[in-house]
Amino acid sequence: MSVLVYLESWEGKFKKNTWEAALYASKTAEALGSEAIGLCIGNLEDSAAEAGKYGINKVLHLNSGFESFDANAYGNAIAEIAAANGAETIVISATFNGKALASALAIASDSALLSNVVSLPESTSPFTVKRGVFSGKGFNLLSTDAAKRVVLFVPNSIPVIEGSGEASVESASASGGDATRVQVQSVDRVKGKIPLPEAERVVSAGRGLKGPENWGMIEELAEVLDAGTACSKPVSDMGWRPHSEHVGQTGIAIKPNLYVAIGISGAIQHLAGVSASKTIVAINKDPEAPFFKAADYGIVGDAFEVVPKLTEEIKKFKASN
Ligand SMILES: Cc1cc2nc3c(=O)[nH]c(=O)nc-3n(C[C@H](O)[C@H](O)[C@H](O)COP(=O)(O)OP(=O)(O)OC[C@H]3O[C@@H](n4cnc5c(N)ncnc54)[C@H](O)[C@@H]3O)c2cc1C
Repeated sequence: MSVLVYLESWEGKFKKNTWEAALYASKTAEALGSEAIGLCIGNLEDSAAEAGKYGINKVLHLNSGFESFDANAYGNAIAEIAAANGAETIVISATFNGKALASALAIASDSALLSNVVSLPESTSPFTVKRGVFSGKGFNLLSTDAAKRVVLFVPNSIPVIEGSGEASVESASASGGDATRVQVQSVDRVKGKIPLPEAERVVSAGRGLKGPENWGMIEELAEVLDAGTACSKPVSDMGWRPHSEHVGQTGIAIKPNLYVAIGISGAIQHLAGVSASKTIVAINKDPEAPFFKAADYGIVGDAFEVVPKLTEEIKKFKASN
């Protein structure tokens, strides 16, 4: 019996999400009294042995026929390797690709799919996890007595503590000869920015900013906080900001440690995508703005006065610390 974790890489590199999933898997294995095994797919630049710092002793590396991500091909391969290694639990980080992969993998491995999981298992018999529901407005506990399960784990849900150790890395194979049927032809990436789903801090602004010409102060605040930038739906609809920054029910759902909402009213559809953030700061000139009910900290004031002052203070603080 083992727990298998898919160690996702991007252009050969691992990100914090990957190590969080590794830690999640090793802690789950500990609770189950089994071992956690890592699986990475494709060419690597980073060393998979790093997984040892997060409690993984062994990593399997599958590296032929899988150049481009294809949920079905990856799902078949992971299911095959899971079966060969007696894995009853497979952990996948709920990244963009992870979400597509998890359902294909659950079918291929004949497993129950536990999606949107936000905590380590509450119990292992029956296997019970906490899930976010209703766009993050609530939680439920989900138990399964299925013999096998795929746990789709929401990034940024457990603290990532780096330990020591190195995992052994062995090459693996999967017979799914038709492997990748999807080829990525080109990738058009937003440059020089922290991608929203990975950002630990996010500075976001809404229609209260009046126009796209006023985003300089938002970008400056984001820079001093080492944060990604986001916006409300009307802002991207009006073309003030790119759609890749739109957060909420119909945009990206994020869960950063810090979310700063500036000139955003706090409509329910906006909150649906951001209310899972660990700490929320709202800046709004209207003391009755609904965002203040969802925020941990609120500043009632004109963004055009508050934001430059906040940026200055953070700069001073950083310079003297
Ligand atoms: C089906 C559906 C899906 C939707 N999905 C989403 C979604 O995914 N994401 C999303 O964001 N919205 C979504 N919406 C839209 C949502 O209902 C709101 O209309 C939208 O979030 C409002 O955007 P806003 O807060 O930027 O603008 P507004 O509602 O216009 O609010 C602007 C805020 O700025 C404040 N303000 C004005 N001037 C200043 C100033 N100088 N300083 C400080 N504060 C100031 C005002 O007090 C106000 O609170 C959806 C709506 C529907 C119907």
